[in-house]
Amino acid sequence: MTVYNPELTWINGEFLANISITVENGKIAAISEGDNSDKGAFLPGFVNAHSHAFQRGLRGRGETFSTGSNSFWGWREEMYKLVDELSVDQFRMLCIECFTEMRQSGITTVGEFHYFHHDTSNDYIMDRAVLEAAQEVGIRIVLLHANYSHGGFGKPLSEGQQRFATDSLETWWEQVDALQEIVDGSKQRVGTVAHSVRAVDIDTVKNIAIGSVQRGMPMHIHLEEQRQEIEACLHTHGVTPMALLNDSIAVSPMVTAVHCTHTAAADMEQWISSGGNVCLCPLTEANLADGICDMHRINNQGGCVSLGTDSNARISMFEEMRWMEYAQRLYREERGVCVDNNGSIAAYLINSATKNGARCLGISAGEIAVGKFGDFAVVDIGHQQLTGATSETLGAALCCGADNSVIKQTIIAGV
Ligand SMILES: [Zn+2]
Repeated sequence: MTVYNPELTWINGEFLANISITVENGKIAAISEGDNSDKGAFLPGFVNAHSHAFQRGLRGRGETFSTGSNSFWGWREEMYKLVDELSVDQFRMLCIECFTEMRQSGITTVGEFHYFHHDTSNDYIMDRAVLEAAQEVGIRIVLLHANYSHGGFGKPLSEGQQRFATDSLETWWEQVDALQEIVDGSKQRVGTVAHSVRAVDIDTVKNIAIGSVQRGMPMHIHLEEQRQEIEACLHTHGVTPMALLNDSIAVSPMVTAVHCTHTAAADMEQWISSGGNVCLCPLTEANLADGICDMHRINNQGGCVSLGTDSNARISMFEEMRWMEYAQRLYREERGVCVDNNGSIAAYLINSATKNGARCLGISAGEIAVGKFGDFAVVDIGHQQLTGATSETLGAALCCGADNSVIKQTIIAGV
């Protein structure tokens, strides 16, 4: 049993003093009156809802444009070169570096959207490497095991995509169930992924959705990050990818669409009203020149929006939060788009980086509340970047003016 008495504690969208938190067997067992004797402010540990850890190896690569500007698809070619180069050990080392940097930035749970499965054949050897890396770093992980069957609508996999391959749906499910057997139980869980409607045919997406419900697993999918995907889907199916999903699967709070950059209003409304989650990755979406998602509309509909570091070109949840709101400000020439019912950007953005991420990964985390995991990011409130902040302004000061150096510690399951 561990008892914390932080100077300030983030509860229900605000920082409170005089709070004592008791963690027992990895979970918050009690919250009572405290004496503020432990230095720092406690946030729920950040939940990074969407990551491809190995892409940490691309940082600084593909940023020279000697033959002119390019797009997401030019970046993807650079990513395939990295995939081609990596040995299992190099892959594991990149995951370790990436997860270490995540912890240093206050992230205590990562949702690893994992499609890089194989070394030389259909061996799924990289899956184990991801789990080993997470265990070594001590980060909580939901391994979102991806099905990746096609190189585009009705197309075979390309040369660069062979290490992602799903040979058959049956062996893919066997691997999901085998992973369920080897995860450590306390800090590791398994979820499912259909990589995208480009890479997985709709009958298989339906099968994955049904199998995920049967297993109580969250399911994620990349959706409408690029206009080209929407055009190709319209050509093949006569509807947008989001409309295709809305019509084909049981959308629920256990289903998450990642990006939704170019999603049409009516499709989004149906998705949200069915309980579907949206995950945004603002830094990656900026780096890849995807476009800007219409957050104003999503918020008006009460959508549950989480955040992910995705390509890990930069790992900072504070920056993801800041960019989510700032991109809207630049685009709409309007301040205060990502706000809660009281108009607070801090409450909205911190919720996106914690509670909403936990919901979309199907785990009991992301809030400082009894019964939740004892996962915390501890902020150094004496840090130069936070000088002058009060308990009322600290949340927004973190969102607008802080970098990872204000995180002095992460605590996972009370350790
Ligand atoms: Zn992604």
